[in-house]
Amino acid sequence: MAKFDDQIVISHLQNKWGSQHPCTMCGKGPWNVHESTYQLTEYNEGNLVIGGPVIPVIPVICGNCGYTVLVNAILAGVVKHSTSPDKEVLK
Ligand SMILES: [Zn+2]
Repeated sequence: MAKFDDQIVISHLQNKWGSQHPCTMCGKGPWNVHESTYQLTEYNEGNLVIGGPVIPVIPVICGNCGYTVLVNAILAGVVKHSTSPDKEVLK
């Protein structure tokens, strides 16, 4: 489990989303930052891939309805990427 200082993520989200950003599903909130980092792995026909690329993510959860969004932990500043980042396709 990768724990981190949640204030780093909260500051990142306030900077990018603004301080008054209601839930996109219920229009309320508040948003709560999960205290651990998770990872997305590439789908491989149901087989676990050991050593494959992963995307570290932080769940951000609406405290009213439970809607959950995943924020990239590298861009949020709590994980350093050890491999080359994905290619940028849009600017
Ligand atoms: Zn909600």
